[in-house]
Amino acid sequence: MERAVITHAHSDHARFGHAHYLCAEPGRGVLLARLPDIRLDTLPYGQRMTHHGVTLSLHPAGHVLGSAQVRLEYGGQVWVASGDYKLEADGTCDPFEPVRCDTFITESTFGLPIYRWPPQAALMAEIFDWWQANAQAGRASVIYAYTFGKAQRILHGLLRHAGANGLPGPVIVHGALATLNAAYADAGVALPPMSLAIDLAPRSPLLRQALVVAPPSAQRSSWLRRFGDASDAFASGWMQLRGTRRAAVWTGASRCPTMPTGRD
Ligand SMILES: [Zn+2]
Repeated sequence: MERAVITHAHSDHARFGHAHYLCAEPGRGVLLARLPDIRLDTLPYGQRMTHHGVTLSLHPAGHVLGSAQVRLEYGGQVWVASGDYKLEADGTCDPFEPVRCDTFITESTFGLPIYRWPPQAALMAEIFDWWQANAQAGRASVIYAYTFGKAQRILHGLLRHAGANGLPGPVIVHGALATLNAAYADAGVALPPMSLAIDLAPRSPLLRQALVVAPPSAQRSSWLRRFGDASDAFASGWMQLRGTRRAAVWTGASRCPTMPTGRD
């Protein structure tokens, strides 16, 4: 395409191959982390531009950093395409903003009534308690999460849940998360102090109190061996816990086919 409007930087919504890209201003860092060297223009949320007589603006979708609904107005008619969106605010991006329109084109990955999500705060409390119990028992807590969006939501949510009491141990992230974590931090999203596994001595006792955040692709990799007999879990809208201990099932509230299903 000559011009592509990108709702957000998940790989099923943002690909190479277009001549020009447009996304919401807060999404610049994460989109460039995904698609380096593209020709990218950005638009602050709510600011209007006109292209071939169509008025276009982008509005927060509450899904991941920089995610946007696209509002198009032409001939007195307003259409809004949602992109992936989430109604509950999670602190890692601008919250969803309802936009008045004549026609709404919605994603609805988790639209079936069988999907019911616990509130973010309850979810974070559960993950925090699991980590704390593991740390007290001297074993690492490995959580698999998709590298863009879900991982940062967990990291931010745990930090917020911990408050002044602090976290149960160090946070170790897989190298695959580093660039996107940096993009979130640059955008002002509070994340806990994080280390890479190589920053800790191989037999450091801290390894057994750590929360380890890794992409699903790291499962059964040699990278995990350093954490010994860890408890592991998978954070996803689709998935149950995987692993030997089967400690919990966590679901995330997000209408995104990418994060929860493993295609990203
Ligand atoms: Zn998405």
